Amino acid sequence: MKKDLKNFTLEELGGYLAVNRYPGYHAQQVLSWVYQKKAEDFSCMSNIPAALRKKLQDDFYLSKLNLIKRLVSRDGTRKYLFELEDKNTIESVLIPHKGRNTVCLSTQVGCKYCCRFCASGAFGFARDLSQAEILNQILGIGKDIKNKINNIVFMGMGEPLDNYDALLRAIRIINAKYAFYIGQRKITISTAGLVEGIKKLAREGLQIELSISLHSAVDAKRDTIIPLNMKYSLNKLLPSVREFAKLTKRKVTFEYILLGGFNTAVRDAQALLELIRGLDCKINLIPFNDVAGAGFLPPAKLEVLFFRDYLLKYNIDVTIRQPRGQDIEAACGQLRMRHLNQ
Ligand code: SAH
Repeated sequence: MKKDLKNFTLEELGGYLAVNRYPGYHAQQVLSWVYQKKAEDFSCMSNIPAALRKKLQDDFYLSKLNLIKRLVSRDGTRKYLFELEDKNTIESVLIPHKGRNTVCLSTQVGCKYCCRFCASGAFGFARDLSQAEILNQILGIGKDIKNKINNIVFMGMGEPLDNYDALLRAIRIINAKYAFYIGQRKITISTAGLVEGIKKLAREGLQIELSISLHSAVDAKRDTIIPLNMKYSLNKLLPSVREFAKLTKRKVTFEYILLGGFNTAVRDAQALLELIRGLDCKINLIPFNDVAGAGFLPPAKLEVLFFRDYLLKYNIDVTIRQPRGQDIEAACGQLRMRHLNQ
């Protein structure tokens, strides 16, 4: 059975070459054909000896995703629905902003965590994505745009830290000079709060950005919107985040979806201030993007401004995320939800 070359690391490909008595430097050449020059077969790899090209052809194939739907928003955001080899579907998003392109990637088909405001878990969890499937989203979007991709955010479907190994393998390729060459500080992992994953990530020696989907600083409230909080409550989550910040010297971001009338009161802001006391962090306020059936309301404009201003008074680094791609259902899982409902 042929193997998918995009599931290999540089070292693993080097090992394969060694076993087959080829010099190790061909590993970098092959990967740069795949990820930089976007080669879709081995025959075009002109600096690889013909015999090795033939051998690679016999042992490997180069997978790609099947684009089944593409939506372009008035604001330039593009949403993609890709089909995998087993016919499962995933979503990825391109968010252009001031000449820079951010790509939002999925890491799983569906999601296990069933956050109440999120569409990704609505159809349950199917499986993890492979390293290749994570990387192919970047290649798939790359084909559709002229400009370079500058930032990667793991904020699509699934919980990135629940697919830790494939995620880290993909990140090393995204970061590698011979591949996508996107700086570690331009890569963000967003998590609902998997404490073991945060602890492990803190020890990888990477400078990647960590974003915590907090959404409430009150356990009893957070329990009701993020069931994972019943396992990893705030008194477990926060120490791991503080440790991450300390070990990596990165400023962590807390995402806070403002759910109208639910988590936007003074006491919610006070709980948040208390929770992050002494931690150098950023708060990103996200006005709730209404997902059919979620049972929440988008916040009123005044609620958003009030919450932000309250935090600003305490010199917190707080921003409001501008909703993007609203006309094309760009929030996690929404496009797939529609596709599966059809
Ligand atoms: N599982 C990871 C990454 C995927 S979700 C996590 O929880 O962080 C990426 C971000 O989108 C999270 O902050 C999530 O809470 C947010 N999100 C999900 N549904 C949303 C919605 N309907 N409106 C606004 N933000 C949403």
